[in-house]
Amino acid sequence: MKKQYLLLPGPTPVPSQVLRGLAKPMINHRGPEFKKLLTEVSEGLKEVFSTENDVLIFPSAGTGGMEAAVVNFISPGEKVLVVSIGNFGDRFAEICRRFGAIVEKLDFPWGTAADPAVLEDRIKKDTDQEIKAVFVTHNETSTGVTNDLPQLRAALGDHPALFIVDSVSGLGAMPLETDAWKLDVVVAGSQKSFMLPPGLSFVSVSERAWERAEKCTNPRYYWDLRAAREFAQKGQTPYTPALPQLTGLVESLKMIKEEGKENVIARHRMLRDMVRSGVRALGLSLLAEDDVASTAVTAVLAPEGIAADTIRSTMREKFNVVVAGGQSKLKNKIFRIGHLGYVQELDILAALAALEMSLALCGYQVNIGQGVRAAQEVVMKELA
Ligand SMILES: *Cc1c(COP(=O)(O)O)cnc(C)c1O
Repeated sequence: MKKQYLLLPGPTPVPSQVLRGLAKPMINHRGPEFKKLLTEVSEGLKEVFSTENDVLIFPSAGTGGMEAAVVNFISPGEKVLVVSIGNFGDRFAEICRRFGAIVEKLDFPWGTAADPAVLEDRIKKDTDQEIKAVFVTHNETSTGVTNDLPQLRAALGDHPALFIVDSVSGLGAMPLETDAWKLDVVVAGSQKSFMLPPGLSFVSVSERAWERAEKCTNPRYYWDLRAAREFAQKGQTPYTPALPQLTGLVESLKMIKEEGKENVIARHRMLRDMVRSGVRALGLSLLAEDDVASTAVTAVLAPEGIAADTIRSTMREKFNVVVAGGQSKLKNKIFRIGHLGYVQELDILAALAALEMSLALCGYQVNIGQGVRAAQEVVMKELA
């Protein structure tokens, strides 16, 4: 008998309330019960997104939502600017490229956030307004860095480019105000802070973005947001929806509402601080600086001479604690502790305890208990 601690930046653990929601019997997706269900989850999502915009739901991975955010708004031959601070920024650029956009990337070193002044400079040079959209990752899951969305949005000034955001790992774990921050398109996914299994993506669309969608010449069928909106107005979806995911979503939205959005974010912040204090107390280094450190996931550099994947496999094999590895150029250099969704203080203490013991087993000099104690102190300070 082995209880598993899943501390990934998605998929995240699923609470039993949500599991029960997922297990509901099927209903007619063209009937009145479904209309009620779709209305309920759509309204709940709008609250989480802090928006009056439509939020459409696709039965897909988060990447499907990203694809929808490209094919509905960007026509082949149009120029887009993609701000990238890691693997998921690169993915947005690649999707744009495959759908015929002329992509200019604004790259920042992995482990840092995008500099709004650099974006502002670039936008100011675009006097002919050739740039049709700016793509930004809210929370870069591959590095554990959060971009400052309000500042990046402000860098556009009154340039008419759409501001399109991947907040798949951000929304729900950190503040995001779709309307107040003037975000035209926001993409989120079910398996991050929504505490659901993978399989749903959510896309919000502003009025400006709808106008663009009408003129967009890129072909799309499955990802057609206009069809999704038309059907939503009748309480339906253009094709068969992922019904279990939606009845699960009802429960997760209830849980978020009960805890309160602010409290959910405060909890994520505390978990982040626990992880960072604990890891530092063990003498390990963090990839991200404090001021840009994600409240969803923390990237830890493996100590000299020990492969990150060896630490990970020790944690998994000896203690059944599962953390993520590094992606792309950070492969085997870092490990990432996910602390989003259905995660609380004692889960983090367990992860840190397993990390300490695993490091010791890997031959790293560690004072057992030191990381756990540092994290406990964060909690005690919070409670004081
Ligand atoms: C998880 C994630 C995605 C989507 O991942 P899928 O595997 O397609 O669900 C996209 N962007 C970011 C920032 C993510 O963390």
